[in-house]
Amino acid sequence: MMHSNSLDNASTQSLLTVINGILDESIERKKGEIPHRVVYLLRKVVQEIERRLCIQAEHIRNQNTIIKTREEKYLSKIKALQVLVNGTNEENQMTVNLLQVVKEEKSQIEERQKLSEQNVVRLIKEKENAENMIASLKEEMEVMNRLHKQQLDQFEIKTKQMEEKLATKVKEFELHVLRSNMKIEEVETTYQQKSQLWNKKENIFHNYMNSQQLYVKGLNISSRSIKSDMYAFQMKWRDEMSNLGSNLKCLVDAADNYHKVLAENQKLFNEVQELRGNIRVYCRVRPFLPGQDKQSTTIDYIGESGELLISNPLKQGKDGQRMFKFNKVFSSFASQADVFSDTQPLIRSVLDGFNVCIFAYGQTGSGKTYTMSGPSTSKKDWGVNYRALNDLFDISLNRRNIFSYEVGVQMVEIYNEQVRDLLSNKVAQKRLGIWSTSQPNGLVLPDASLYPVKSTSDVLDLMEIGLANRAVGATALNERSSRSHSILTVHVRGVDVKTGSISRGCLHLVDLAGSERVERSEATGDRLKEAQHINKSLSALGDVIFALAQKNAHVPYRNSKLTQVLQSSLGGQAKTLMFVQINPDVESYSETISTLKFAERVSGVELGAARSNKDGKDIKELLEQIACIK
Ligand code: ADP
Ligand code: MG
Repeated sequence: MMHSNSLDNASTQSLLTVINGILDESIERKKGEIPHRVVYLLRKVVQEIERRLCIQAEHIRNQNTIIKTREEKYLSKIKALQVLVNGTNEENQMTVNLLQVVKEEKSQIEERQKLSEQNVVRLIKEKENAENMIASLKEEMEVMNRLHKQQLDQFEIKTKQMEEKLATKVKEFELHVLRSNMKIEEVETTYQQKSQLWNKKENIFHNYMNSQQLYVKGLNISSRSIKSDMYAFQMKWRDEMSNLGSNLKCLVDAADNYHKVLAENQKLFNEVQELRGNIRVYCRVRPFLPGQDKQSTTIDYIGESGELLISNPLKQGKDGQRMFKFNKVFSSFASQADVFSDTQPLIRSVLDGFNVCIFAYGQTGSGKTYTMSGPSTSKKDWGVNYRALNDLFDISLNRRNIFSYEVGVQMVEIYNEQVRDLLSNKVAQKRLGIWSTSQPNGLVLPDASLYPVKSTSDVLDLMEIGLANRAVGATALNERSSRSHSILTVHVRGVDVKTGSISRGCLHLVDLAGSERVERSEATGDRLKEAQHINKSLSALGDVIFALAQKNAHVPYRNSKLTQVLQSSLGGQAKTLMFVQINPDVESYSETISTLKFAERVSGVELGAARSNKDGKDIKELLEQIACIK
């Protein structure tokens, strides 16, 4: 082995076994010296192994560099692949989205397909229906065609018949024409004969004309004699006319006297009214209403001349009785006409230029509205309002040759001390001002709507509007009881046709609010406020009349809107009539007594002579004459 170069060819494994063998052998010899050839061999083997290791190491290094370059190549490839992979991911996402959209569209298309299939089914049905209809229509058409043909056949038959008839008629006409031709010839011959006759008559007429001319000449002569007779007649008529003129003058004088007598009559009439007192109080007892106990009444006795005896249901004998006296007391049997009969003269006074005020006073439910307006619009039921207006227009019509009258109407209510126009469309907004001294046209409420009227029915129409606008509230006594004063004012302006002097009068028709005391109506809140306003204004009315009676220098008109509005119709210048309404039932005893006490205070008053609002020059003279008559 040491001489050959066979080390090159030996495998590394065998070299290592050689070394191991040498080492093992040397160990066995135990510290025996290693011969030179063995050391040499070992050195050679080790060198060989070193060489091989070097070669291997070199090889491995080369391999490493190759691997590194490959690795780099692979890394770059991997990067490129990653980029590619990322790109593909995005594309994938887009494709997924696209796929989603496509899916949705597909489902929509499927739905549409379903719908269209349904439509197709429906259309097929409709088509079947239409085909059925077409079939039925075809049948109908065939029937119609058949009918039409039949009719056509009938028409043809008829036209043939008509043609035949026409042919016969044409023949008849031809015959007629022939006959009429013959007649024309006959007429021509008769005409010739007649013209000969006329010629003869003309000759006769000429002769007659000649004789007539002679007759006219005679007539001319006689007309001349008639003319002279006419002249004589005219002279006679002239004399008679002048006689008539003097007679007429006498008549005119008589008419003048009539005017004077009429004026005197008015004065006398007013005098009579004055003697009866310028404030009159009539009491009216309301009948029991259906369902009320007629046995228990507080009315004991009603006298002929206005006595009224009231008995207290809780006290027996004379202690429980109280007597009142008024101008008149109407029992529960009195009719609407009876109640009005004594009011009538006051209506004449209005036309004579006086202010008149008619009130209805009493607790709610005592018949105020019944007396003033009546329960219905039938003539029998008419209340004082309607009857007064009717009389007013009747009298003004009778006087039309002497006076020309203009009549106007206002209607207001006083609610919670506010004056409201009942004839205005805007009742709620409009609150009216009151003029303390009336305007030249006689209006105390110049802003309230004033409607000219020509007849009772005009006024009734206006009153209907006014009543609808009236404020009504509820109380324990009467659900629809009215809690406001309503005032209908009729203004009358009369012009004396002869002298031109003007007189003004006005008539107030007042339906007062219920006079009951607050406790009685169990009111609270708004109702209590209403009741307090009503109590205040009614006592102000009593105070005004009382002050006038006492001839006090100060009359408290300003204490309430009611007395302010009626100022010119309360007191010396006016006539006042109050209907005091009472209930007959025992429960109303205390209200009845307080109502009657109020009325007693009012009726015991002498308000002095009324003065007419005449502005004519003869007013002084009239007053003097009245004094004489007194
Ligand atoms: P007021 O206006 O005082 O509240 P009403 O006039 O409304 O009272 O009358 C109350 C009720 O009594 C109504 O049903 C009315 O018809 C009736 N009444 C009033 N007076 C009479 C009368 N004289 N005759 C018959 N019924 C009457
Ligand atoms: Mg009423």
